[in-house]
Amino acid sequence: MNVFGPAELVEDVQKDGLCIGCGACVNLCPYFLNHRGKTVQIFPCSLTQGRCYAACPKAEVDLDEISRHHLQRPYEGRPMGPYAEALAAKAGANMTAGAFQGGGAVSALLVHALKQGLIDAAVLTGKNEKGPVPSIASSPEEILACASSKFTAAPTLAALNRAVAEKRTNLGVVGTPCHMTAIAKWRTNPLAREDFEDTVSLTIGLFCNWGLDQKSLSAFLDERLDISRIKGMDIPPPPANALVVDLGDESIEIPLDEIRPFIPETCGLCPDMTAEWADLSVGMFEGRPGWNTLLVRSQKGKDLVAGAVAAGLLTTEPMPETNLGHLENAAKNKKRRAFMKMNERGLLNPSDDNTRAMLRVPQEVVDAIVED
Ligand SMILES: Cc1cc2nc3c(=O)[nH]c(=O)nc-3n(C[C@H](O)[C@H](O)[C@H](O)COP(=O)(O)OP(=O)(O)OC[C@H]3O[C@@H](n4cnc5c(N)ncnc54)[C@H](O)[C@@H]3O)c2cc1C
Ligand code: SF4
Ligand code: SF4
Repeated sequence: MNVFGPAELVEDVQKDGLCIGCGACVNLCPYFLNHRGKTVQIFPCSLTQGRCYAACPKAEVDLDEISRHHLQRPYEGRPMGPYAEALAAKAGANMTAGAFQGGGAVSALLVHALKQGLIDAAVLTGKNEKGPVPSIASSPEEILACASSKFTAAPTLAALNRAVAEKRTNLGVVGTPCHMTAIAKWRTNPLAREDFEDTVSLTIGLFCNWGLDQKSLSAFLDERLDISRIKGMDIPPPPANALVVDLGDESIEIPLDEIRPFIPETCGLCPDMTAEWADLSVGMFEGRPGWNTLLVRSQKGKDLVAGAVAAGLLTTEPMPETNLGHLENAAKNKKRRAFMKMNERGLLNPSDDNTRAMLRVPQEVVDAIVED
C-alpha cells in the first residue's frame, strides 16, 4: 500500500471533495479535527508518511491488497463482495426493545458479543441535537442508546482512535462501507510498523447508498421544523421516495429530490453498497418492516450469529432469492456507476507506479465492472 503524508491527504482528498468525514484521521494527532461535520487540518505537518493518510478510505486504497490480506484471494469486483450466507434477521425474544432502525439485528449482535466477551467495547454512532456523535459503548444500555440510523456521514472512527489512545483493545466497530474500508486498510498495517497492534475484533457494516452532509441537512431542516423535536429518521424503500422525519407526535415526509443536493459528491464515487470488508453486513429488508438483511461474511461473523440465535437475542430466517436478486442488482449498479465516475475523473490507478490515486484496482477488474 502506498502511503503519503498529511499534505497529500489535504491536497488529494479534502481539497478535491473526496473527504466523507469518516473520522479515521481524527484523534491520531493534534492537527486533524472534526468541526461541525467537516474534517479540518488546523496546523500543517511535514511528515512524508502519516497515519492519517494510511487510514483514509479515500486515498490510495488498494482493493486487491486489502482482499489478499483479509480474504486470502484477489479482489474480483463482485457486486456485494464475498459472503457465505444471506439471511433475514431481527432482534430475538430475549433482546431488550430499543429504538431500532429496522429489526435491531445490529444492536442484538453487539449485545451478544459484549456479553460473551467477544468484544470489550463497541465504537458506535450516537447523536445529539447537532448531529451524529462518535461513541464508545461498554454496556448493553450504551449500545441501545446508539440504536437507529443517523443518515448523515459520521466521524465515527474518531471514537475508534480515541479508544485506542485510551489503551482499549478488543473493540467492535459498526459503520458504513467507508468506515469499514478505512478499518480494513488500516488493519493491513500499511506503514509496516513492527509494533502494530490490531485493536479491532469485530466489524459490523451497514448497507449504504449515500449519506447526507450534516451541515446542509441541519440548515435545511432548521428552516422547516424545530430540530430539537427530531426523534429519528427513515428512508422507506421505493415507491415512498421520501425522508421521513419522526417528531414523536407526528412525522413529516420530505421528498428525496429536495435532499439529494445534500449528498456529498464523494458518495457518488463510492463503489461499495454492502460493506464488503466487514465480518457481518446489515441493511433493511425491503418489503418486510421490522426485519433486516444480514450478510454473513467471516467465520467470526458466522459464530456470532449462531451464538446470538442460541441465546434468543437474534431470530433468523433464510433470505428469499428474489430479495437477494434485487439487492445484488442495486449493489452492482452502485459499483458500476462509481467506477465509471472514478474513471472519468482519473481517480483509478490500475498500475504499480507511484502516481497517487483514490483507488488501486487491476485493469481487468475495472473493465469487468464497467462493462458488466
Ligand atoms: C448513512 C446510512 C445510509 C444507509 N443506507 C441504507 C440503504 O441504502 N439500504 C439499506 O438497506 N440500509 C441502509 N442503511 C442501514 C440501515 O439504515 C440500518 O442501519 C441497518 O439496517 C441496521 O438496522 P438495525 O435495526 O439492525 O440497526 P440498530 O440496531 O438500530 O443499530 C444501528 C447502528 O447503526 C450505527 N449508526 C447509526 N448511524 C450511523 C452513521 N451515520 N454512521 C455509522 N454508523 C451509524 C449505530 O452506532 C447503531 O449501532 C444505512 C445506514 C446509514 C447510517
Ligand atoms: S480519513 Fe476520513 S475524515 Fe480523514 S480525510 Fe480521509 S475521508 Fe476525510
Ligand atoms: S455512500 Fe460510501 S462514502 Fe458515502 S456515506 Fe455511504 S459508504 Fe460512505
